[in-house]
Amino acid sequence: MPRPLPSVTELADGIRRGDRVLLGRAITLVESTAPAHQAQAGELMAALQAYAPVQTFRVGITGSPGVGKSTFIEALGKHLAGQGQKVAVLAVDPTSQVSGGSILGDKTRMEQLSVDPLAFIRPSPAGDSLGGVARKTRETIALVEAAGYGVVLVETVGVGQSETAVHRMTDAFLLLLLPGAGDELQGIKRGIVEMADLLVVNKADGDRVQLANQARAHYLNALHLFPAKENGWTPRVLACSATEGTGIADVWATLETYKKTAQDNGFFDKNRQVQAHYWFRDALEQELRTAFYRHPAVQEKLNMLEEAVAAGRMSPFAAAREVLRVVFP
Ligand code: GDP
Repeated sequence: MPRPLPSVTELADGIRRGDRVLLGRAITLVESTAPAHQAQAGELMAALQAYAPVQTFRVGITGSPGVGKSTFIEALGKHLAGQGQKVAVLAVDPTSQVSGGSILGDKTRMEQLSVDPLAFIRPSPAGDSLGGVARKTRETIALVEAAGYGVVLVETVGVGQSETAVHRMTDAFLLLLLPGAGDELQGIKRGIVEMADLLVVNKADGDRVQLANQARAHYLNALHLFPAKENGWTPRVLACSATEGTGIADVWATLETYKKTAQDNGFFDKNRQVQAHYWFRDALEQELRTAFYRHPAVQEKLNMLEEAVAAGRMSPFAAAREVLRVVFP
């Protein structure tokens, strides 16, 4: 028997106190597709709106599978927790449905960070579309921030469009790279390199230090060919070893410099406003779609016309117009 869900007020109060159990349950509520849960989730988001802390930092982290993302996030997370900062780790993983479980969930990842009282790690929801997963991740960001997590690391686990989705919900974007190989060899699209504010060559340890330095030089050169970024920041290229922990402090210091630069020149706030605009439009689109298909008269009409279209008695376009007319006469 599932436990009864706490009320919206209990959840909101618990989150503001930093109660991890209630935070977890609130995220489950936000991820639920049941209409009653979605209504409660909406109330919860509204209740927490006023309490979002001002100073949070959202960092997107991407890189090919095997580059060391989870090892790196654990090292960075431990560094932050070591400074007394509360850090949340989320993931956008559009492939989770295909693989039948999220990558963060089924591998034992970030073992040390997951038991740190200052860290909160949430596996990716199994969504029916990248858009759906991304929307829930944005709401989850708002929840963990309301619970006082000042740094939110968002990992993209999928390969492909999830980078763009994560770029649109974060303040800074970090691309992890392997020593040596050029981007074609690492399977990285040019667009991804262009989105990055910080490139980090991981696994710069053992006999790979030399290769890592070569990769650094290569990417520094490549970056010169890109147009200047809108945020007034010249992307940096660093090297680190996530397993040995070397270079991690430098990565964080550079991210903080980036944040300060973007705050000083106004990009930070402007970017969040633009993101809020997208968030609003995405939410509106999702709500419209859901409300439309749930409408009993729409369902009835759909059933009727589906048959007519299949039998060739009506054109798909005319049928679509007629279904729309149920709600928009
Ligand atoms: P992900 O798929 O990008 O999340 O990569 P993982 O974090 O799972 O790491 C993939 C493999 O690379 C694992 O075997 C890690 O132990 C290893 N790895 C990660 N970071 C480093 C590093 O800095 N140095 C070395 N030598 N190996 C690393």
